[in-house]
Amino acid sequence: LGGKNMLSIFDAEEDRSSRSRHDRLARMRQALDGGELRLFYQPKVDMRQGRVTGMEALLRWQHPERGLLGPLDFLPLVDNDDLIIDIGDWVIHTAMQQIALWNAAGLDLQVSVNVAARQLQRADFTDKLRGLQAAYPHCLQHLELEILETTALEDIVKTARVIEECLALGVGSSLDDFGTGYSSLTYLRRLPVKTLKIDQSFVREILNDPSNLLIVQGVIGLAHAFQLQVIAEGVETEEHGRQLLQLKCDHAQGYGIARPMPAAQVPDWIHQWRPPLSWNIDAQLSV
Ligand code: C2E
Ligand code: MG
Ligand code: MG
Ligand code: MG
Repeated sequence: LGGKNMLSIFDAEEDRSSRSRHDRLARMRQALDGGELRLFYQPKVDMRQGRVTGMEALLRWQHPERGLLGPLDFLPLVDNDDLIIDIGDWVIHTAMQQIALWNAAGLDLQVSVNVAARQLQRADFTDKLRGLQAAYPHCLQHLELEILETTALEDIVKTARVIEECLALGVGSSLDDFGTGYSSLTYLRRLPVKTLKIDQSFVREILNDPSNLLIVQGVIGLAHAFQLQVIAEGVETEEHGRQLLQLKCDHAQGYGIARPMPAAQVPDWIHQWRPPLSWNIDAQLSV
């Protein structure tokens, strides 16, 4: 008898939590359809040339009651639901529109979008990209994909094929949060990516933790041996940038350079940005 009661309690609880999940997914769907999603853009700079090279598109939800929400507040819910496909499509479409606007304004920027595992695994992922070619001529060359290292490792053969197909369309790829997924050399060789993004957890600690400095140095050496570019994420201070430059890191991104911002602020930000003096750009360019 007790067992039976227990069961019904569990059922009720499970029902309640799946209903709340259902409600939250429905609300998220409404946010997408109702135009509450936004893309913010965070600059990436070339540390040797002292130049802005691109922007990473980062998803935000302008929630009418709760304010501006970051992806960690709502993406985990949809990550294993098909809604992530529609959100991903919206992200790519919106980024392409933005690329077209920036191109028209004479801004030469690479724009990267983060791609979820479920999105990448869809058979029609590259077909959809190809479908954007007509509406946005010359824009795909400015689009890049950021794929989590851990996602790429889930099915390396498939990931390699998708990256290859995208490359044929002019869309390059990078491995995001690199260093968290334990990629082996053999794996790395099979993925035709252009860039490794060193995870911010390693970057943040380079100044106080020698082992993290060694990891970052190792990743940069590894990347360059494979003719890949390296970008450090989470560059929070000028001192981080200086240290990374010494380690021969190519690109930097982080709050120390700029926080993610609405697209409308990007042109002004680019105009006023100067590389920190400590990067010693003139001296570097003259060698
Ligand atoms: P990510 O792709 O690794 O992006 C970097 C995250 O670190 C962003 O957080 C960014 O705002 C933050 N960040 C940048 N510089 C610094 C810094 O100097 N210090 C610190 N502490 N943080 C910094 P955000 O925007 O909250 O995004 C979190 C994650 O959500 C992203 O990590 C990405 O994996 C995912 N994400 C964002 N947009 C999308 C999207 O459109 N689609 C998908 N599938 N995932 C997305
Ligand atoms: Mg990213
Ligand atoms: Mg990252
Ligand atoms: Mg991350």
